[in-house]
Amino acid sequence: MGDYRNLWESLGMDLEKHDVLCQALPPLFDEIYLSQVDRPQGMNYFNFVIAEIHGLRVEELHTARIAGRKVFGTFCVFVPTELITACDGIAVGLCGGSQFWVPDGEKVLPRNLCPLIKASVGAKISGTCPYFQSCDLLVGETTCDGKKKAWEILNEYTPTYVMDLPQMKREKDLSNWRDEVSRFCEQVEALTEQKITSDNLRQAIHLANEKRRVLSRLYGARKADPVPISGKDALLISQIAFYDDPERFITQTDALCEELEKRIDQGTGVFPKSTPRILISGTPQAIPNWKLHHIIENSGAVIVCEETCTGTRYFENMVDEGGETVDEQMRHLADRYMGVNCACFTPNTGRVDDIVRLAKEYHADGVVHYNLPFCHNYSIEYHQVERALKQEGIPVIKVETDYGEEDSEQIRTRIEAFIEILR
Ligand code: SF4
Ligand code: SF4
Repeated sequence: MGDYRNLWESLGMDLEKHDVLCQALPPLFDEIYLSQVDRPQGMNYFNFVIAEIHGLRVEELHTARIAGRKVFGTFCVFVPTELITACDGIAVGLCGGSQFWVPDGEKVLPRNLCPLIKASVGAKISGTCPYFQSCDLLVGETTCDGKKKAWEILNEYTPTYVMDLPQMKREKDLSNWRDEVSRFCEQVEALTEQKITSDNLRQAIHLANEKRRVLSRLYGARKADPVPISGKDALLISQIAFYDDPERFITQTDALCEELEKRIDQGTGVFPKSTPRILISGTPQAIPNWKLHHIIENSGAVIVCEETCTGTRYFENMVDEGGETVDEQMRHLADRYMGVNCACFTPNTGRVDDIVRLAKEYHADGVVHYNLPFCHNYSIEYHQVERALKQEGIPVIKVETDYGEEDSEQIRTRIEAFIEILR
């Protein structure tokens, strides 16, 4: 990474503490990522993005802000980022995936809370995340209890706008959500001093759909046997999708997909043919949370799909690009987001159907249900997921773990036993 100390200082960061974080990431990435064999050439771009994780993109955001553009930090796949793009703003995903930030989060939050929330808040109050420091507005949502109360605390450090997400998907909830999307639109227009028009919204919807299309293409390649790309690499790409420049991301991922499709034609894979195939389902895996993928792929199985918000929930279902007026387009936009099946909804049978469908589409031999501790929504929903998969004869195991390494060996033992069953 280049020298960005002046930039970080101008963002009000704690440089000394940030140095500790910067020293921890490269060896972790080397061990988990660069140690893999037969990686596609196209991964070089994503390696570069990680090498520059607190550098180049942060500098781009800084330059954009000097030019008058606004940066919005988001935490959930329900935030309609198309509205931000349409008003020439920039959206960056901020969910924290590092144990490094948890102790700072625990200074203001209870310990018995989801690590994703603690790490996200900790990243802000520790002053060690340049993305948080670059945001003009944070956008939270009323999904789980932990998040909606955490926004009140985060708002003491940086302006935080909260979208009211319904808890159910009845017609009246959909109508409320459409209103909420319009209310958010007004907020974006006010901050950016731009107006949503049918033209700029059409372009923004198209761009977001292109990102969905290319992620869908990437995931499509993972249906092959042998698999042309590891689950770890696919997860990394999904995580980067949340903060990279969208156009560059689309170009680079398309180039990678071409390489993967050639590999499929040649029968080349990163794991031998007939390696046990795993579908991950459950809570999001924010960067740099690679723990479970690393354990599974070092235990003799390959991950072929993630039914998570850093997986299919992020890119499945396109926004209908057909609307002529802003009102029609806004309606299409709101409706697409209501198609996301998060466990914060009741009932949420759509997610159970999705898991069974994806397990079949990706020819998964088994499902690992991943749960961050204290995420009650996903933990409780496991009961229905397990029942549905058992009815289909698909083995499933639940793994609950945080960002720490203390339980890694215990998880490895359970995963190895599970893979033996799949064999
Ligand atoms: S799991 Fe639910 S609350 Fe969390 S990011 Fe996904 S949609 Fe949002
Ligand atoms: S993983 Fe669960 S508890 Fe954590 S932020 Fe998402 S919905 Fe909330």
